[in-house]
Amino acid sequence: MLEADGADEALNRVNTHSKPSDLRITDLRVAEITGAPFASVLLKIYTNQGIVGLGEVRDGASATYALMLKSRLLGENPCNIDRLFRRIKQFGGHGRQGGGVSAVEIALWDLAGKAYGVPVYQMLGGRFREKVRVYCDTDATVPSGTETGKRLKQRMELGFTFLKMDLGLMQIADVPGAVVSPAGSLEGYRDHPGRGPLKTIEERRVCNAAYDLHNVPHPFTGLHFSDKGLDFLEQYIAEVREVIGMDVPLAIDHIGHISMQSGIRLARRIEKYVPAWLEDVIPWQYTDQYRQLQDATTVPICTGEDIYLKEGFEPLLKSGGVSVIHPDLLTSGGILETKKIGDMAQDRGVAMVIHMAESPIAAMAAAHVATATENFMALEYHSVDVDWWDDIVTGLPKPLVKNGFVTVPDKPGLGIDDVVDEVISQHLQPGVTGIWLPTDHWDDEYSWDRTWS
Ligand SMILES: [Mg+2]
Repeated sequence: MLEADGADEALNRVNTHSKPSDLRITDLRVAEITGAPFASVLLKIYTNQGIVGLGEVRDGASATYALMLKSRLLGENPCNIDRLFRRIKQFGGHGRQGGGVSAVEIALWDLAGKAYGVPVYQMLGGRFREKVRVYCDTDATVPSGTETGKRLKQRMELGFTFLKMDLGLMQIADVPGAVVSPAGSLEGYRDHPGRGPLKTIEERRVCNAAYDLHNVPHPFTGLHFSDKGLDFLEQYIAEVREVIGMDVPLAIDHIGHISMQSGIRLARRIEKYVPAWLEDVIPWQYTDQYRQLQDATTVPICTGEDIYLKEGFEPLLKSGGVSVIHPDLLTSGGILETKKIGDMAQDRGVAMVIHMAESPIAAMAAAHVATATENFMALEYHSVDVDWWDDIVTGLPKPLVKNGFVTVPDKPGLGIDDVVDEVISQHLQPGVTGIWLPTDHWDDEYSWDRTWS
């Protein structure tokens, strides 16, 4: 009896992964950072047993999308991941609006893993691979295929075995006669609505007007590539291939908001350079147009980084309009949803690559799914030039991306020990005054939300 009491007393002193059944969520807080490589929001979910779950809100999204969920989570056992996910999933949406639900879902997996002492990939069913192949994204800002090829070659020398680059509208927007466009329409794409506080109503109006322009779906922009434009783009990828060779996979992104017909013409022009995929040629919602696009070319057609939930992927996969899907865990609904999406794609012979443009928290969440999903091909890495990226967290191999691969450690949860406040504090978003600040004002958020009656 005395011995049993002693054991209980000892257990009470252990405040991590001690009593998963009694684990409860006590708080949600955020750190809004920028430059890793874009703006994103690191999320902490705190518990009554001292363990903290890490998540991340998608690049470009708002912390509000996660914080507004706080009142739905307080007092709950974070190990009931799927039940909590189904409670909150109505508060997510496509694109950045999926960022809050997804961030929370990832932090719940981290907590469950830490509570039971198990890596996330193991809870998903175990390993399909020992290390996760990373594809290195490279913005093609230079107006020369040869120069971009040299930059890509440098990536290969760092050990990357899979590459991606931009090829499209913005490379030829300044070339006279390269783009057929309604007068004035191209200029607007150069302005991007930025982050941070605005001083005047007029600044707000201009910002929202820029939003409107960037939200015109491709079929309605009136933009088409001319033969001269297509010649330029074909020459560009030819120069790139000349430098990097034909052996290495090279994916193509940022074609621009051009017509599907221009997308088909570009795809046919570049077939002989064997792109790994052509990404987001048109909005993913146009399922029938995706089918037409894929039927018209041998280049694998890809989309998915803005799709929320497996239900969003289903029509595209059923239509045969994609050969590669590209979910972002921070939009798709998180870890388990992306595993389900990958498995659904596999049933139709479609490969999964994973979009990722945030900190090592997002990278590890994606790497666990990549480890545990059979049809996974490559994980995006956009931060090869960010020298403080690895310093955001502790407990992971440094560098995390080594010779073009991530090795997922056999540690509980995501495998991250902690985040480094000193590093984060040096890279806050404009207008942000601190990290992990109290969020009490979200404790009583309420509305009678139900998606049926
Ligand atoms: Mg993309």
